[in-house]
Amino acid sequence: MDLNAPAIDIRDLNKFYGSFQALRGISLTVRKGERVVVCGPSGSGKSTMIRCINQLEEHDSGDIRVFGTLLDDSLGSIDEIRREVGMVFQHFNLFPHMTVLENCTLAPMLVRKTPRAEAERVALKYLEKVRILDQAAKYPGQLSGGQQQRVAIARALCMQPEILLFDEPTSALDPEMIAEVLDVMVALANEGMTMICVTHEMGFARKVADRVIFMDKGEIVEEAPPAAFFGKPQNERTKLFLSQVL
Ligand code: ADP
Ligand code: MG
Repeated sequence: MDLNAPAIDIRDLNKFYGSFQALRGISLTVRKGERVVVCGPSGSGKSTMIRCINQLEEHDSGDIRVFGTLLDDSLGSIDEIRREVGMVFQHFNLFPHMTVLENCTLAPMLVRKTPRAEAERVALKYLEKVRILDQAAKYPGQLSGGQQQRVAIARALCMQPEILLFDEPTSALDPEMIAEVLDVMVALANEGMTMICVTHEMGFARKVADRVIFMDKGEIVEEAPPAAFFGKPQNERTKLFLSQVL
């Protein structure tokens, strides 16, 4: 891994599900410390792109580099990615039979071979950061959706990733819980975390994004800093989308 290389560098990425092409020649470079928000209609390929970056899906052609390391199907590159790229999902994906603390220590102990005491020390630090330390001994099912998502963010942070990917982290939450999750994400953004966030929270995009990307039908249609993106969208498809979400 070369920390001077772009955090993420995608060149002409194509992805098919059977004969259906979900990604069409996606190219995207994200610098270390950059905060990118991705929006677009349902089915436009946002999750597929994020999942390809994290190697949860295999791509058909094109290159993805993470800090200079080319993702191929070798175990070495998948391992490296799993360590450096954290992922937060819409439905939290916590392990229901494990406590909050165990959810946070599992991957560091298994993947990073961190001793339990050290893994717990780090986990408690991040649970405090997402303001959920008092729930460390609970099971996910005992928590609200907003609390579960904050645990999921802490769990991702426990691997001490260089990059965090978020796929609609607030879409499954009741309105009163969205703000508590966004607050945590804003704090991370302000600390310089490299982030790609798929979200329709345009207030969040305006506040923290360096760049907003609009995807439609498997393509990146438009990208610009938030002021230009919201103030002067260029593409008709972007304008239509924004008229529906703003
Ligand atoms: P988004 O996240 O923007 O809503 P997705 O990346 O989930 O879009 O999906 C893009 C397109 O690929 C959609 O048309 C979806 O139906 C299709 N798709 C996603 N996952 C699969 C899959 N596992 N098998 C077949 N088609 C899929
Ligand atoms: Mg999606």
